[in-house]
Amino acid sequence: MLSNSLIELDREHWIHPVASYRGHEKAGVRVLRSAKGATITDASGKQLIDGFAGLWCVNAGYGHDSIVEAAANQMRELAYATGYFGLGSEPAIRLAAELAERSPGDLNRVYFTLGGSDAIDSTVRFIRYYQQARGKPQKDQFISIEQGYHGSSTVGAGLTALPVFHAGFGVPYDWQHKIPSHYTYRNPAGSTPDAVIAASLAALRAKVEAVGGAERVAAFYCEPIQGSGGVLVPPPGWVKAMRELCRELDILFVADEVITGFGRTGPLFACEDEDIVPDLMTVAKGLTSGYVPMGAVLMSQKVYAVIADGAGAAAVGHGYTYSAHPVSAAVGLEVLRLYDNGLLDNGRKAGARLMAGLASLGDHPLVGEVRGRGMLAAVELVTDKARKTPLPATSAPAQRIFDRAWDKGLVIRAFGNGVLGYAPPLCCTDSEIDAIVERTRATLDETLADPDVR
Ligand code: PMP
Repeated sequence: MLSNSLIELDREHWIHPVASYRGHEKAGVRVLRSAKGATITDASGKQLIDGFAGLWCVNAGYGHDSIVEAAANQMRELAYATGYFGLGSEPAIRLAAELAERSPGDLNRVYFTLGGSDAIDSTVRFIRYYQQARGKPQKDQFISIEQGYHGSSTVGAGLTALPVFHAGFGVPYDWQHKIPSHYTYRNPAGSTPDAVIAASLAALRAKVEAVGGAERVAAFYCEPIQGSGGVLVPPPGWVKAMRELCRELDILFVADEVITGFGRTGPLFACEDEDIVPDLMTVAKGLTSGYVPMGAVLMSQKVYAVIADGAGAAAVGHGYTYSAHPVSAAVGLEVLRLYDNGLLDNGRKAGARLMAGLASLGDHPLVGEVRGRGMLAAVELVTDKARKTPLPATSAPAQRIFDRAWDKGLVIRAFGNGVLGYAPPLCCTDSEIDAIVERTRATLDETLADPDVR
């Protein structure tokens, strides 16, 4: 009963993110009631393993008492503090210092945001300011990658290269450009690492020339692994090669680690996998494990110094009411402590098991490719392995696969026409990982038997 009335209220009032509004009204909301560890319980009492950690964010798992206590204690002590007017709170200061200490190289300056989208927005503002301050205001063109996702603000949606975020919204702007994705499984240049890397380097050089040369280009954005585009993993050496080209061309390199940060791929940051130091890095999600909203821009000393000296005595006019919220910062500090005290290690162990388990699905007739790193993975489905034929879009395979997995007690992300996405909490046990794989296999078997899909 409760659930029915909630469904009605939802249908009438809540505008959901990235949804077909009419489709959602028809289908009705699935109400989630509670969660512990990697298991969530819906309003009917059904239990499911959350193979997607909410929205790639609940890295520590749900219902962690120490995180709850950190938030409650901070709310009692100092529920809010602004960073304006030269003020600040202890947790915000400590979290900035901890992030500076743990992040690669000279990423020692931290600007706090509410999430990933405004972290991306902040980088665009800071980068424009930086290029002006160093006397190169004509460097005002931005390049990102097809199938990339950099948030849903107007500026970020323009850097994002997924059509649904553009259609009807008047973006991208004419200063926002894209190069093709490395998408190894379907790369026209071939799938060997050398071919994929060479194609991306050539594409970036060509795009830079096309927009007027390096003198016009401010920055290049990439995710170390493209997340919302379908967990597209570049070959080893790709990130490093792109970073080096940006250095050569005097273009700022922005690593968007909103998904890959905080242990998702193994180390604290995926940039460590390639031993690179970006000029700016965006983080969110795992920073607070999704318990409260928070994101951040990590900025190199070099970029910071140019902005600070350029502004001189004037204020740099960029700020949010809830930037560096003390409750979020207190949660962030506790979550960092958990990463140090076993969560990263468990994530690496569970990630190896997840990748091996999903790889064992490779012999299934519907599986074209299994890819990923650590606790970030995808299974791409095809109807013909040799031709790599995607599942027919007319049969709405993503929704059907999501629903089938749900029925079997598994939450996954189902992209477009048949890519399954995985980002489980890093706290998963062996048996939870095994259940994710088994329930996926059962979902695939049922999908194979569906005449609409074949
Ligand atoms: N960048 C990347 C790589 C993301 O995956 C996301 C969110 N999925 C964002 C930015 C935007 O973050 P948020 O949803 O917190 O605004």
